Amino acid sequence: MVDLKVSKILFTEDEIRKRVKELASRISEDYADKEVVLIGVLKGAVYFLSDLSKNLSIPHMIDFISVSSYKGSQRGTLRLLMDTRIDIKGKDVIIVEDIVDTGLTLKEILKIVQAKEPKSVKVCVVVSKPNRRKVDVRVDYVGFTIPDVWVVGYGLDYDEWGRHFPFIGVLENVDSKT
Ligand code: 5GP
Repeated sequence: MVDLKVSKILFTEDEIRKRVKELASRISEDYADKEVVLIGVLKGAVYFLSDLSKNLSIPHMIDFISVSSYKGSQRGTLRLLMDTRIDIKGKDVIIVEDIVDTGLTLKEILKIVQAKEPKSVKVCVVVSKPNRRKVDVRVDYVGFTIPDVWVVGYGLDYDEWGRHFPFIGVLENVDSKT
């Protein structure tokens, strides 16, 4: 078992709850009278998607997508592990992600989702690290902006550990570039 040492809590459970409610009310206003499908990116977005969904005041559907990054020479390309089930053609889609770092993952997910011809696609993330961006991706709803650190909790992991922490915190001695 891994004993993760959190050196600093960046956002407490209360702060996250408050921010998710704010995002949910903005989305509820922006999407009034639309056919909304939230697509959560597994596994990191599970906690966020669940809280966001419960706080939306508009009818909506939820679905999931799962991808994994190739390592080595194919780095930067993604393998689709699990596709969405709902037919999103002509619907208003919001991709719900845990974190945008370089933006490469999101860019590929956007391609996969756009190919299904939704009416519109927006992106909602808990955490963004704008200083690390390598590609230009538009993120429409951002919970928190952070510097170049590795964070865990609220769905975010370190080698699959730490997702269940109710806060978002920085790990001791982890280089965010690895
Ligand atoms: P990208 O660089 O493509 O934007 O992000 C790739 C993936 O790296 C994210 O979906 C996330 O799984 C992971 N990632 C990037 N930064 C962090 C971080 O600070 N903490 C955790 N737990 N995952 C991260």
